[in-house]
Amino acid sequence: MKSCHRFNYFIIFAPTSVYTQKNMKAVSTVKALREELAACQAKKIGFVPTMGALHEGHISLVTRARKECDVVVASVFVNPTQFNDKNDLKNYPRTPEADAEMLEAAGVDFVLFPSVEEIYPEPDTRQFDFGQIDKVMEGATRPGHFNGVAQVVSRLFAIVEPTCAYFGEKDFQQIAVIRAMVKQLGLKVEIIDCPIVRDTDGLARSSRNLLLTPAHRAAAPHIYEVLSAAQAKVGEMSPAELTAWVTAEVEKNELLKVIYFAAVDALSMQTIEKWSDAERVQGCIAVQAGEIRLIDNIKLK
Ligand code: AMP
Repeated sequence: MKSCHRFNYFIIFAPTSVYTQKNMKAVSTVKALREELAACQAKKIGFVPTMGALHEGHISLVTRARKECDVVVASVFVNPTQFNDKNDLKNYPRTPEADAEMLEAAGVDFVLFPSVEEIYPEPDTRQFDFGQIDKVMEGATRPGHFNGVAQVVSRLFAIVEPTCAYFGEKDFQQIAVIRAMVKQLGLKVEIIDCPIVRDTDGLARSSRNLLLTPAHRAAAPHIYEVLSAAQAKVGEMSPAELTAWVTAEVEKNELLKVIYFAAVDALSMQTIEKWSDAERVQGCIAVQAGEIRLIDNIKLK
């Protein structure tokens, strides 16, 4: 942190836990965070919104923000409005003490651990319209998901007022939705996308990986193996043929069921018919691995 002093030692009491940090300040209210940021008079605020259960993927965003900004703010909030499945929300992993430690070690200055009431003092009834961007893939298979993402991210942006906000390409469609939201709301924040961080066996890091059974965890790296092989097949197959091939290849492992695979224009998120239809094409996949839904993507062109 360049423009604020570092705090020497403090403890905050949150409803369920106590987090103790030396150099990072953890707050649980919007008011407290805004007071801290006002006192900083920070020039360039970098913001990393997360749902916690942090791993190296999240930390890569923090590291980038730390390099590029004067003050780094993170949030850890499991946003109920983006879950279309109540069980998924209930079972979502929550590891706040470990999260606080990782964020501090990565150089975060302030982290917001808010309650649901803090973010939604009243229910958020806004309905966003992002055209076709949020109607496909994750939007089609998780109704209401992106509306909830736009609700929470727009609220967090209003609280933090970041100069830059960092998002992972792991959630490729989410970045497109957030860019559309920023444009629609006329926000000044710059959206920075960061590459996918993978485990050594290729599986994209995800908080949900913690919930995989050992058998499904062992099967899951097959998804990236197939995506990597698909990259090499772009010259010999049409997008539709590649889609059928990827689906069949992934499902050769009987523990994996493809929810969708699509070769899409990386800007519009729409499925392409010919490789020449878009300048950049991304292959996006969602796979059911037992109870757990995994997503991944790869650049095809
Ligand atoms: P989440 O906590 O899942 O909402 O993710 C918070 C942020 O971390 C989002 O911008 C994600 O795209 C990003 N993220 C999650 N997993 C990864 C990963 N494996 N590599 C890079 N970024 C990631």
